[in-house]
Amino acid sequence: MIVDRQGRRFRNLRISLTAACNYACTYCVPNGKRLVAAQDELSADAMARAVAYLVEAAGIERLRITGGEPLVSPRLEPFLEAIGRLPLEDIGLTTNGQLLARKLPALQAAGIRRLNVSLDTLDPDAFRRIARGGDLDTVLAGLDAARAAGFRIKLNMVPLRQENLDQVLPLLDYCLARGYELRFIELMRMGHLARAGTDFQQQFVSLGDLLALIGDHHPFVQAEAPLDATALRYEIPGRGHFGIIANESVPFCRTCSRLRLSSTGWLHGCLSSGNRHYIGDLLDKPRHQALPALQRLLVKALGDKQDLAFSGGATVMKIIGG
Ligand code: SAM
Repeated sequence: MIVDRQGRRFRNLRISLTAACNYACTYCVPNGKRLVAAQDELSADAMARAVAYLVEAAGIERLRITGGEPLVSPRLEPFLEAIGRLPLEDIGLTTNGQLLARKLPALQAAGIRRLNVSLDTLDPDAFRRIARGGDLDTVLAGLDAARAAGFRIKLNMVPLRQENLDQVLPLLDYCLARGYELRFIELMRMGHLARAGTDFQQQFVSLGDLLALIGDHHPFVQAEAPLDATALRYEIPGRGHFGIIANESVPFCRTCSRLRLSSTGWLHGCLSSGNRHYIGDLLDKPRHQALPALQRLLVKALGDKQDLAFSGGATVMKIIGG
């Protein structure tokens, strides 16, 4: 197992199944182009082999499948089937929910029980403006179907001051009423937002702003969360929980245990680092050759982690997964 001098190690793997997405959210895809897959994406088999090798070489215990939009990929089903036999503690999936209803049987068959569904607003006009693809009612129907099928659901919302701040409380009420945990994700300086001259500052809503807004309507107390959790969690007594992923306000780099694999075979040890490490060529090699080479790259990837604070990154989220 590879551990750095701060005691950090890779425990959670996020795999971007494809860079293609049926949305083009304004904060993620500035040119508005939907469904553009990266060239030379790995096959489902190669991706599953990557996960198997990373379980062994890095000690990965938990897997999150993301993208792009993982449910648009024809590799989803074969990938799920191939990773079914791996000794993983947990497999989760992050999706925009557009294709959720029809993909639920495949997710259930693969043993997935937890879903993170991204939804920035309950207002159809704002939904069209932000997501620039998809349809709000379809997402809501997918959520209902997933809930009825017994999935544990978290909703991800990126609050944007000029777009959906008025949706913080309606989305919270929607989630509390259904037993979903709402996760607010502070806007991150990723991709085009990492460059000067964007509207990042005008759109950014901080942890403090969110807590003040929610506190005016709901009494809450801080709740427990695992040491390497990304979100600070809060309980509204008698109603439920919500969380805030506060990359900017309360960076969690010191306890970060995440490793990311792009759909084209690049490992990223840190969202804030421009470094990436290609493993696509190792996946055809037998285990005894692949694992030592992989371990050398994992040492480099762990060395890419920031010591203290997230400082933005040029890579677009849809390439490496949220
Ligand atoms: N398509 C899937 C979805 O919509 O959930 C998975 C991929 S998406 C890149 C994963 C998450 O990253 C979404 O919740 C999205 O809102 C978030 N995200 C993308 N760009 C972001 C940014 N600049 N700051 C904060 N969150 C971002």
